[in-house]
Amino acid sequence: MMELDGVVELGRRRRKFRKPLLTRPLRTLPTIFECPHCGARAVSVDIRKNERNEQGLVHAIIRCGNCGLYAEMWVPEIYHPVDVYSKFLDAYLEGRIEYKFVKEEKKVSLEELASGESIDANREGGERAEEEAEEW
Ligand SMILES: [Zn+2]
Repeated sequence: MMELDGVVELGRRRRKFRKPLLTRPLRTLPTIFECPHCGARAVSVDIRKNERNEQGLVHAIIRCGNCGLYAEMWVPEIYHPVDVYSKFLDAYLEGRIEYKFVKEEKKVSLEELASGESIDANREGGERAEEEAEEW
């Protein structure tokens, strides 16, 4: 049923005001951003509000899940990820920030210790050389 002019519903129950659009109470701020290095939409910003410096700034980690770009910043506590990102982007483009590339492979240590078993010990049949010959 269509409300052409909002008149249709008046017959049933009188409302003080037309129902406001409640589908999105607050606009969700983005937390994933485009990477200035590789262009992938894979940059996440981690604001660590419990890590604070003498100036009252909090520690923010900027990281690309695609190319491994990694940078750290100190930002005001009120910053949202999008603020951190735009500040990072400026600094990055102007060469004012140090960054490095952190590869995912490095995450072995703690997780392996926690699991207590080495899963890799049992791996077999990893040879797929035959596929090369079959594709013509
Ligand atoms: Zn990237």
